Amino acid sequence: MATIFQKIISREIPAEIIFEDDTCISIKDIEPQAPFHALIIPKKLIARVGEVDDEDEQILGHLLLTAKKIAQEQNLDQGFRIVINNGSDGGETVPHLHVHLLGGRKLTWPPG
Ligand code: 5GP
Repeated sequence: MATIFQKIISREIPAEIIFEDDTCISIKDIEPQAPFHALIIPKKLIARVGEVDDEDEQILGHLLLTAKKIAQEQNLDQGFRIVINNGSDGGETVPHLHVHLLGGRKLTWPPG
Protein backbone atom coordinates (compact mmCIF):
# COMPACT_ATOMS: atom_id res chain seq x y z
CA MET A 1 0.00 0.00 0.00
CA ALA A 2 1.25 3.48 -0.86
CA THR A 3 2.28 5.77 1.98
CA ILE A 4 0.51 9.10 2.40
CA PHE A 5 3.66 10.80 1.11
CA GLN A 6 3.73 8.61 -2.03
CA LYS A 7 0.13 9.71 -2.63
CA ILE A 8 1.22 13.34 -2.30
CA ILE A 9 4.14 12.76 -4.68
CA SER A 10 1.77 11.20 -7.24
CA ARG A 11 -0.76 14.04 -6.70
CA GLU A 12 -3.43 11.60 -5.47
CA ILE A 13 -3.63 13.74 -2.31
CA PRO A 14 -3.16 17.52 -2.35
CA ALA A 15 -0.46 19.27 -0.38
CA GLU A 16 1.17 22.66 -0.32
CA ILE A 17 4.31 21.95 -2.30
CA ILE A 18 7.28 24.21 -1.59
CA PHE A 19 9.93 22.50 -3.71
CA GLU A 20 10.33 19.46 -5.93
CA ASP A 21 13.09 17.88 -7.98
CA ASP A 22 13.92 14.37 -9.22
CA THR A 23 15.03 13.22 -5.76
CA CYS A 24 12.65 14.80 -3.27
CA ILE A 25 9.57 16.85 -2.60
CA SER A 26 9.03 19.41 0.13
CA ILE A 27 5.58 20.22 1.49
CA LYS A 28 4.13 22.27 4.31
CA ASP A 29 3.25 20.09 7.30
CA ILE A 30 -0.53 19.77 7.70
CA GLU A 31 -0.18 20.24 11.47
CA PRO A 32 2.56 22.84 11.85
CA GLN A 33 4.50 22.89 15.12
CA ALA A 34 6.14 26.23 14.38
CA PRO A 35 5.35 29.28 12.21
CA PHE A 36 7.29 27.53 9.46
CA HIS A 37 7.14 23.72 9.33
CA ALA A 38 8.00 21.82 6.18
CA LEU A 39 8.76 18.21 5.40
CA ILE A 40 11.44 17.15 2.94
CA ILE A 41 10.64 13.70 1.60
CA PRO A 42 12.66 11.45 -0.73
CA LYS A 43 10.76 10.19 -3.74
CA LYS A 44 12.35 6.79 -3.18
CA LEU A 45 10.39 4.94 -0.52
CA ILE A 46 12.81 4.58 2.38
CA ALA A 47 10.90 3.73 5.55
CA ARG A 48 13.18 5.38 8.09
CA VAL A 49 16.77 6.31 8.86
CA GLY A 50 17.15 3.03 10.71
CA GLU A 51 16.66 1.22 7.42
CA VAL A 52 18.80 3.22 4.99
CA ASP A 53 21.41 1.50 2.84
CA ASP A 54 24.87 2.73 1.88
CA GLU A 55 23.44 3.38 -1.59
CA ASP A 56 21.11 6.01 -0.07
CA GLU A 57 24.01 8.28 0.93
CA GLN A 58 23.42 10.72 -1.92
CA ILE A 59 19.70 10.96 -1.15
CA LEU A 60 20.34 11.60 2.54
CA GLY A 61 22.78 14.39 1.76
CA HIS A 62 20.37 15.86 -0.75
CA LEU A 63 17.59 16.04 1.87
CA LEU A 64 19.78 18.11 4.21
CA LEU A 65 21.03 20.40 1.45
CA THR A 66 17.44 20.96 0.35
CA ALA A 67 16.44 21.75 3.95
CA LYS A 68 19.23 24.31 4.15
CA LYS A 69 18.19 25.96 0.87
CA ILE A 70 14.55 26.15 1.96
CA ALA A 71 15.60 27.64 5.31
CA GLN A 72 17.53 30.33 3.41
CA GLU A 73 14.61 31.01 1.06
CA GLN A 74 12.27 31.31 4.04
CA ASN A 75 14.66 33.75 5.74
CA LEU A 76 15.02 31.63 8.86
CA ASP A 77 18.06 33.74 9.75
CA GLN A 78 17.57 33.42 13.49
CA GLY A 79 17.87 29.66 13.30
CA PHE A 80 15.89 26.58 12.53
CA ARG A 81 15.66 22.95 13.55
CA ILE A 82 15.93 19.79 11.49
CA VAL A 83 14.30 16.68 12.97
CA ILE A 84 14.01 13.09 11.80
CA ASN A 85 11.79 10.89 13.95
CA ASN A 86 12.61 7.19 13.86
CA GLY A 87 10.35 4.41 15.10
CA SER A 88 7.59 4.56 17.70
CA ASP A 89 9.74 5.88 20.57
CA GLY A 90 11.17 8.47 18.18
CA GLY A 91 7.70 9.80 17.37
CA GLU A 92 7.52 8.53 13.79
CA THR A 93 3.95 8.35 12.50
CA VAL A 94 4.46 8.05 8.74
CA PRO A 95 6.70 5.13 7.63
CA HIS A 96 8.27 7.08 4.78
CA LEU A 97 11.48 8.93 5.65
CA HIS A 98 11.05 12.68 6.00
CA VAL A 99 13.06 15.56 7.40
CA HIS A 100 11.15 18.13 9.44
CA LEU A 101 12.32 21.72 9.00
CA LEU A 102 10.98 24.00 11.73
CA GLY A 103 11.55 27.69 12.32
CA GLY A 104 10.07 31.09 12.90
CA ARG A 105 10.06 30.91 16.69
CA LYS A 106 12.49 30.09 19.48
CA LEU A 107 12.47 26.33 19.83
CA THR A 108 13.05 24.81 23.23
CA TRP A 109 15.33 21.95 24.22
CA PRO A 110 15.06 19.15 25.18
CA PRO A 111 12.17 18.04 22.97
CA GLY A 112 9.24 16.31 24.62
P1 5GP B 1 6.42 11.97 11.88
O1 5GP B 1 5.52 12.01 13.08
O2 5GP B 1 6.29 10.65 11.15
O3 5GP B 1 7.83 12.37 12.14
O4 5GP B 1 5.88 13.11 10.92
C1 5GP B 1 4.80 12.97 10.08
C2 5GP B 1 4.33 14.36 9.77
O5 5GP B 1 3.50 14.31 8.63
C3 5GP B 1 3.51 15.00 10.89
O6 5GP B 1 4.12 16.19 11.31
C4 5GP B 1 2.15 15.22 10.25
O7 5GP B 1 1.54 16.42 10.67
C5 5GP B 1 2.47 15.23 8.77
N1 5GP B 1 1.40 14.75 7.92
C6 5GP B 1 0.68 13.61 8.09
N2 5GP B 1 -0.22 13.48 7.09
C7 5GP B 1 -0.05 14.57 6.28
C8 5GP B 1 -0.72 14.99 5.10
O8 5GP B 1 -1.64 14.36 4.58
N3 5GP B 1 -0.29 16.15 4.54
C9 5GP B 1 0.73 16.89 5.08
N4 5GP B 1 1.08 18.01 4.45
N5 5GP B 1 1.36 16.50 6.21
C10 5GP B 1 0.97 15.37 6.81
